[in-house]
Amino acid sequence: MINSKIIIANWKLNPETPREAKVLFNNIKKQVVSFKKTEIIVAPPTVFLSLFDVSRSKKLFLAGQDVFWEKAGAFTGQISPSSLKYIGVDYVIIGHSETRALGDDNETINKKIKLALKSGLKVVFCVGELSRDNHGHYLKFIKEQINIGLKKVEKKYFKNLIIAYEPVWAVGRMARMADTPGDFLHNALFIKKILATLMDKKTAFSIPILYGGSVDRKNVASFLIEGEADGILVGRSSLKIDDFNDILKIVNHA
Ligand code: PEP
Repeated sequence: MINSKIIIANWKLNPETPREAKVLFNNIKKQVVSFKKTEIIVAPPTVFLSLFDVSRSKKLFLAGQDVFWEKAGAFTGQISPSSLKYIGVDYVIIGHSETRALGDDNETINKKIKLALKSGLKVVFCVGELSRDNHGHYLKFIKEQINIGLKKVEKKYFKNLIIAYEPVWAVGRMARMADTPGDFLHNALFIKKILATLMDKKTAFSIPILYGGSVDRKNVASFLIEGEADGILVGRSSLKIDDFNDILKIVNHA
């Protein structure tokens, strides 16, 4: 297990105005001051990233929600990883199920991961099955996502990697329910074993594995305690100030 817990707030395409974004962000900034063993990574919509200054905090970081696999050129609408780095962003989420649903596949995700790492960003690599079966076929799906996603990633960058295990059926508004902490623990161990085939065991076991998918103030503790998660990735609940404050407090005391 990793010493410090990680909370990622993925705001997706919310809120609509810079004013609302500042309210959400300033609330987090206030809470973070008292945190000892928790790091918070906020992933607002790209256009809001430069509204926030985290340069003086050791606990609060910014993340992009996606990047492109080329750093410059004729690619209308895309975001270069180096441009994120230049405006003070440290992390980027890659392979989120919502960007996969819009066309990302394991190969494009691999290209994005490689360039993001090379550009000095830390990568939150999202993996997770579309549906769960009782025969373990879904594990093959996750294995392929990891093997292709991390293909030819240079060893020196493994320390800049976080894995977010997010079963797709548990993510977002259409989610059926959250996973169980027990199943998360089982799947996180499976992920660590796959990682150990790509790198030495010590490095593989030092990569944080987070849980994401319908995390709320009621279930968060169980993922950290029973599920032994190194942290959580929160979507909807990160947009509700009271709920998110509870989550922050629970994680910080877990
Ligand atoms: C997410 O956006 O990755 C996520 C886990 O969303 P939610 O918490 O809303 O399920």
